[in-house]
Amino acid sequence: VLSARGVRKRFADTEVLKGIDLEVRAGEVLCVIGPSGSGKSTLLRCFNHLEHIDAGRIRVDGELIGYEQHGPSGRTLRELRPRDIRRQRERIGMVFQRFHLFPHRTAVRNVMEGPVAVKGRTRAEAERQARELLDRVGLADRADHYPAQLSGGQQQRVAIARALAMEPTLMLFDEPTSALDPELVGEVLGVMRDLARSGMTMIVVTHEMGFAREVADRVLFIDQGAVVETGRPDELFTDPRHDRTRAFLSTVL
Ligand code: ATP
Ligand code: MG
Repeated sequence: VLSARGVRKRFADTEVLKGIDLEVRAGEVLCVIGPSGSGKSTLLRCFNHLEHIDAGRIRVDGELIGYEQHGPSGRTLRELRPRDIRRQRERIGMVFQRFHLFPHRTAVRNVMEGPVAVKGRTRAEAERQARELLDRVGLADRADHYPAQLSGGQQQRVAIARALAMEPTLMLFDEPTSALDPELVGEVLGVMRDLARSGMTMIVVTHEMGFAREVADRVLFIDQGAVVETGRPDELFTDPRHDRTRAFLSTVL
């Protein structure tokens, strides 16, 4: 579903991503772990072209993200038009640490809005689908509440339903539980676990090592903008190959 080759990104004089290669297959759950400032959020933002990359190629479902190839050799890249970038983003759901719901819209309207505005669904159709999705994330009885009337965990579940309403082929999560009170973390991880089991392709940046261990097919450890190692969770957590991974794990486990 996603392939990244030699992705580089610099901000001013610091190189934040130093040539990232990675491959995520359909139905796979990849958890990304690493110290603060290692480039995890930047990497996710590159995947849906919220950041321009300085070098490398990112493909989702075979399609080059954010650029088109041109020139005789096809080796030069030209930035896509905003309209085409928006079209690419429709296929990539993203859930952030903060929920970013529209405060003056009920849960169901938050979930409906994308499909109505972008996919041209009728309101009736979109509402039916939105209520189904809210049911799936355990919020059938909260569909007509405003964000301020919902807990952080409930708001984050609405945000997940909203991303799913666009029928993405890939879901990106950037520390979706790190802004939540501890007692609300479990309900959001539970929804993500169900989503993983339903076969969704997911890339999850997380500090929840229990979740990574249980749900991830593969874990990728990134440090200072480079992939240090990647492996099955049982391998990486119990027998990391690199000292840096070992050192990081000893601070978080
Ligand atoms: P955390 O675990 O704290 O969320 P992270 O691994 O997600 O960290 P990033 O947010 O990707 O790290 O940041 C990587 C580096 O890039 C940091 O040094 C950060 O200061 C820098 N950086 C990120 N965004 C920008 C920006 N828009 N302008 C300048 N520097 C940035
Ligand atoms: Mg981050």
